[in-house]
Amino acid sequence: MAEFSIIERYFQRASNSDVSLGIGDDSAIVTPPPLQQLVICADTLVAGRHFPLDTAAHAIGWKSVAVNLSDLAAMGAKPHSILLALSLPKIDHDWLTSFSQGLFDCCDQFAVSLIGGDTTQSTQLTISVTALGWIEQGQAITRSGAQVGDYICVSGQIGDAAFGLQHLSHALQRRLDYPTPRCQLGQQLKGLASSMIDVSDGLAQDLGHILKASHVGAKLQLDQLPLDPSLKQLDLQQAWHYALAGGDDYELCFTISPQNFNQLSRQQLDVPLTIIGEITQQTGLLFEYMGKITPLHVHGYQHFA
Ligand code: ADP
Ligand code: MG
Repeated sequence: MAEFSIIERYFQRASNSDVSLGIGDDSAIVTPPPLQQLVICADTLVAGRHFPLDTAAHAIGWKSVAVNLSDLAAMGAKPHSILLALSLPKIDHDWLTSFSQGLFDCCDQFAVSLIGGDTTQSTQLTISVTALGWIEQGQAITRSGAQVGDYICVSGQIGDAAFGLQHLSHALQRRLDYPTPRCQLGQQLKGLASSMIDVSDGLAQDLGHILKASHVGAKLQLDQLPLDPSLKQLDLQQAWHYALAGGDDYELCFTISPQNFNQLSRQQLDVPLTIIGEITQQTGLLFEYMGKITPLHVHGYQHFA
């Protein structure tokens, strides 16, 4: 089957009306809304590295879009469209059917169009998605704006996906396979949050990026971490390890002044928020548990201790 028949059969669909020219020409055309900036990002998933080899094709399709929409959400952007660069070892119609369904399910949930891409053969299954979104001029929430005294907040629960990866038939595997990008929350935080990142590599490391970019430090309250009941049953060190060092959460971690947090609390949100700590002048990341500073013996995180 030729490359263009695969594209036509699995990936060419009517785009949303805000796409001027979708799949089928040499490039896509998108007309930016007035006074908006283009926000753009890319993420690649390699089979066996970013997901277990036997992950369901539908989940791979969903996740390849979701991780990119999460990066847009972390800037406060409204997602618009994606491009898909697909490298396939072979043409497997069952796989392509489920994969494209998963991909479009995620696109549809967030009103995103697939507007182009590339299809090639290669020994390794690799899925690379580029996502485009919009934001009002100057409104993007970067990593560098955290202020001393800001609260540190996180959406949803953290550590679920890392736990799911270690317990593959547990209910939390769904959080690994079908992450929910926090698109609505990200946009609601415009003008309120001082800095933001999406949690993809573990909360401690990702919060570390905010601290470095903002030239500040933080104190985290370990007893405030929003953990699933399955994690709360574990030994504390183990639970903290999943929550702080585990990856693939795709929740938003942001800093916000106490006044702005009060304003945010009056809004309707589609995901719970938890205050997990505070930004400090003293650089570095400290952990507090039951009112006491606690050196953390979490493997791989000695450099944060
Ligand atoms: P070209 O050779 O000019 O790069 P292609 O034959 O690769 O064009 O692609 C034809 C059209 O199909 C283009 O609009 C391209 O963006 C789109 N396309 C190719 N592969 C994919 C894919 N996996 N998903 C979505 N669109 C794709
Ligand atoms: Mg061409």
